Order: sequence, then C-alpha cells, then structure tokens
Amino acid sequence: MKVSIVFPALFLVLLLSSCAGDKENQQPNILLVLVDTIVADHLGCYGYYRETSPTIDSLAASGIIFMNCHAQSSWTLPGMTSIYTGLSEKSHGCGHYNNRVYGLDLEMPTIATILQNQGYSTAGFVQSEYLGNEFGMDKGYDSFWILVSEGASAMDSVTIDTLLNYFSASEIEEPFLATIHLYDPHSPYAPPSPFDTLFEQSDSLQLYDWPADTDLWENPVLIEHLKALYDSEIRWTDSQLSRLLHSMREMNLLDNTLVILVADHGEEFMEHGSTGHASNLYQETIHVPLIMSGPGIEPETIISQNVGQLDVLPTVLDYLNIPVPDHVEGISLLGTIPADRIIPSSGIVFGTASAVCLQESMKVMWFVQPDSSETFNLLVDPGERTLLPTDSLLLEEVLSYWAWPCVCTPTQNDSIHMIDKLREIGYIR
Ligand SMILES: [Zn+2]
Repeated sequence: MKVSIVFPALFLVLLLSSCAGDKENQQPNILLVLVDTIVADHLGCYGYYRETSPTIDSLAASGIIFMNCHAQSSWTLPGMTSIYTGLSEKSHGCGHYNNRVYGLDLEMPTIATILQNQGYSTAGFVQSEYLGNEFGMDKGYDSFWILVSEGASAMDSVTIDTLLNYFSASEIEEPFLATIHLYDPHSPYAPPSPFDTLFEQSDSLQLYDWPADTDLWENPVLIEHLKALYDSEIRWTDSQLSRLLHSMREMNLLDNTLVILVADHGEEFMEHGSTGHASNLYQETIHVPLIMSGPGIEPETIISQNVGQLDVLPTVLDYLNIPVPDHVEGISLLGTIPADRIIPSSGIVFGTASAVCLQESMKVMWFVQPDSSETFNLLVDPGERTLLPTDSLLLEEVLSYWAWPCVCTPTQNDSIHMIDKLREIGYIR
C-alpha cells in the first residue's frame, strides 16, 4: 500500500482522457454515497476488528482512503450541508440555533446546482427530512426522492431499488450526479435477518436502542449488545452498497463513474459519557470515512493528512476540471494537502456552542458553558483520555472560529413539525 501519495490535478486530467475508453469525450459520472452515522473506526479499512465492511474495504483498496477525515459537525443537517457546499457549519449556518432550525441559503451553490449548471443529469435519493425540501437540500436535483419511513428498518434496500429503477426505467443522460443516502446504521439498531445475529448469537436483551433510564447506560453488557447490533447494521448497509455497485457495473454505468463515500457523523457508545451523536465533538462522533474510487484514481492510495467534509465539493470540481467558487473553504484533495492544515468542527449542542480545531495530531475543544477547553494529542491518545496543557495557539483558532462572519443567509424553518421532531430526538431541549 502507498502512503500519503497525492497527484496533481493536471496529471489526473491526462489520466482521465486516456482511460475513459469509448466514453473518452464524456465527463465522468459522480455517485455520491452519503452513509449516515458511520464512525470510521468501525470499518475494516480503518482497522476495525469485526468484518463490518467488505464492500467499503474493497472500494477503498481500489482508490483513495482518507484516514483522518473529520466531520464539520456531529449531526446530520450541518454535516451534510458541509459536504454539499464546501463550507464549515459556521459559514453555511445550517442547524439549530436558539430553538430555531435553519436550512440552506437558497442562493448558495451546492454540488448538485453546480453540476446541473454544467449539464449533468442530477438525481437525489435520501432517507431523512433534513436532506429534503424543507431545508432546501433538494436544490439542484432534476429528480428527487425522499424515502422516509419512521421506525422502519432495512430501508437502504428500498432506497437502492429506487435508484436502480431510476437507472433502468429512464434513458439516463450521462454524465450524471446520483446522490444516495444510506440511513440504516442510525438508531434504532435493528438489522434484518440474518444480519441481526452476525456479531451476537443471543439476543436475550431484546433492546434495539438506548433505554430511557440513563442509569442503565453504564452497563457494559448493554453497551456491547448495542455496539454488536450497530456493527450488524453497518454490514447490512455494506451489503446493499455491494448490490448497488454490482448492478451499476452490469448496466455499464460504473466504469466511467467516480464513487465518493462519506459519512455525516459518527456514533457514541459511552466513550465520553454519551450515546448517539450531536452531544459532543469527540472523535467517535466526528471521525468519518472518506473514500474515492473511479477512473484516473490510483488504487491503494492512503492519505494520512487531516481533511474534512468541506473538501468533498472542491475535490469533485477539481476532478471534473470545473472552477471552484472563491467562497469555498475546503480544498481539492487531489493536490498537495498541507500537513499543518487546521480543520474546524462545531456544534450547537443543547443550546451550548462548542468547537474544535485539529492541526496535525493536536486537537483543542472549547466549550462555552462552562467556559473551558480540552487539549489532546490524537497520535498517542486516539481515545482522548489524557488531558494535556492547553495548546494556546490552537485555542485561539477555536475561539476565532465563531468570530468568522457567516457567508450565507440560511433559511429559517419555522415548521412546528420540525421543531417538535428535533425536541423529540433530543437535538433541542
Ligand atoms: Zn445523520
């Protein structure tokens, strides 16, 4: 395996022109796979001990794996918006602030609007209202499906069937952008049979989510039980991704397609006293997978520098030789990635702001209430157990993060339904 190899965009363009075969004059298609709630550490290609991800592992081996990709937030709406816009949470402003919910600035270019303007056919297949029209996230898609079924499990197969039906029922105009959102690893952890017993033979607890009584959360048997079911959900989603990629290959739609897989956030299992996500910004909620594979991408490439979700948009545009808008904060990952680059993450968690800056292996997290900070060296302490003396320079970066002006005018969403939903799942108190 090669380590930290990058190649310039010009070289990539030359490669693209020589390997596209009978579609040599056609821009590559883009398949953007948004996996919900997958922490990188639970995937085989990131070193996990269980076989949760054979398909994702092979996708990584066929292209580039970014070992240190950090989400810009720890919940769906702001994280996905960073992927779409190339901006940090502070700059795109999507999320919940002061008990109000904000969606996309409708003037802000996204991956879908930019590629649509470039003549791409654009189609979106999502499983969350946060990625739907209520938040402007359907913007730029010629065809759009929102497949939401409250409490249903195994919806990833339905979503993939919908995408495959779209591919087979219509005359696909290439090049296309297809965005698919796979949601099943999100709680409740209820994988379909036979995946439900893959990592735990007995299901004596009959629990698929954290019980309301928080005193029970400390129970190591419960933690391991839910973790096994979560891992099974990842394996189930991985199997559906396998089905998608095989079908696309049979349809002759994969050879000229760049596949990008990225998650919106990770998941906590009491590593730092919380469960789920959106409660803090420790690595279990912001260390996400980022993998790219397609024509011109050198196989078995491992990148170790810090990167973020906000790099996805500029990387795709660079890959397609499309100019990157000036306001974009991310960088193309096809060029040189500075080793000392600072990556921000943030969250308005239960009305309290917090933010993180990462530089090389140093991480500083700042909390508004109480006003405090934590410093870790992830190289020697990936579990963030040992507090170090404050890195004052990095702390300054964190504090200045909230001083940056928001470059967007996010759209306020006053839907009572959404406010109630956010309160119900704990995002608003
Ligand atoms: Zn999510």
